Amino acid sequence: MSGVMDGARQSEDAAEAGLRPQTLDDFTGQKASRENLAIFIQAARARGEALDHVLLHGPPGLGKTTLAQIVARELGVGFRATSGPVIQRAGDLAAILTNLQPRDVLFIDEIHRLQPAIEEVLYPAMEDFQLDLIIGEGPAARSVRIDLAPFTLVAATTRAGLLATPLRDRFGIPLRLVFYTPEELRLIVSRGAVKLGMVLTPEGAEEIARRSRGTPRIAGRLLRRVRDFASVGAPAERAISREMADAALTRLEVDALGLDAMDRRYLLRIAEHHHGGPVGVETLAAALAEARDTLEDVIEPYLIQEGLVLRTSRGRMLGERGWRHLGLAPPASQAD
Ligand code: ADP
Repeated sequence: MSGVMDGARQSEDAAEAGLRPQTLDDFTGQKASRENLAIFIQAARARGEALDHVLLHGPPGLGKTTLAQIVARELGVGFRATSGPVIQRAGDLAAILTNLQPRDVLFIDEIHRLQPAIEEVLYPAMEDFQLDLIIGEGPAARSVRIDLAPFTLVAATTRAGLLATPLRDRFGIPLRLVFYTPEELRLIVSRGAVKLGMVLTPEGAEEIARRSRGTPRIAGRLLRRVRDFASVGAPAERAISREMADAALTRLEVDALGLDAMDRRYLLRIAEHHHGGPVGVETLAAALAEARDTLEDVIEPYLIQEGLVLRTSRGRMLGERGWRHLGLAPPASQAD
């Protein structure tokens, strides 16, 4: 994949790669998606055919990239990865597609950010494994058709609703990833600790899991930060207890529900400036100096799932639980 990544992001990615599960059996949670994938993979293998195209959708950090890699490994085929914003020209996509080996997996992250003109190239490629390219310009331009090796497109998006219907309809296997339960995250944290060579008590693991916003990426990040705090001032062989995990997470400004400073700014904004709402998402984005997409894709899904925020036709409102979490009383009109 091309594109420039800053140093911090690169080292974060490297740390994440070490925690990635390698097989479907190793992949905790997402039971329905995992079981369906296992069957479809087995069937495709038995027929010796490319697996049907897979669309993974759900909030960031839930395992879309990880699952795409696992699909390729379980199929025993090659894996190529790119992302919507990286593909600038139809030729970029053509180069990738023509280099695929039969039954390979092509992973396109953030597929909703693919330019419409490039999406058009993808349609015949997905449907008939054919590429229609225009060669040359002006009156001399002509169209050539190239046969591609049958391949599997595994695409990821934070919201399936952002995809054009014709694109969405071309995925035979759409899978929605959901937030992980605290118990699933506890397992992920415990396994991660073993991989990182940490000694973690079950209560320590539980505390990190509970405060990970239902998201394995956050669980992995918090685990590494807790290890940093624990390694300063305590002997390495000392098991990390609930108290130690709690102290580290509190210093990281991760509260009892696992919300971070940005989540709390979001909730406080609705409470204090809009009396609990409703308030439009654009207004909130401007006030918080965040992109609307970031609010909708990263911040809101978990707050909504937890009943802290309600999405209504008139805008966002603070839920009962949101008021309680902030330690504030809802206005009388909402208190019934
Ligand atoms: P996404 O592509 O959805 O943003 P990733 O697949 O990159 O998410 O996963 C983010 C991090 O979370 C990776 O480090 C990965 O190892 C970890 N992770 C994701 N899902 C799981 C899981 N089910 N079990 C263990 N770790 C997971």
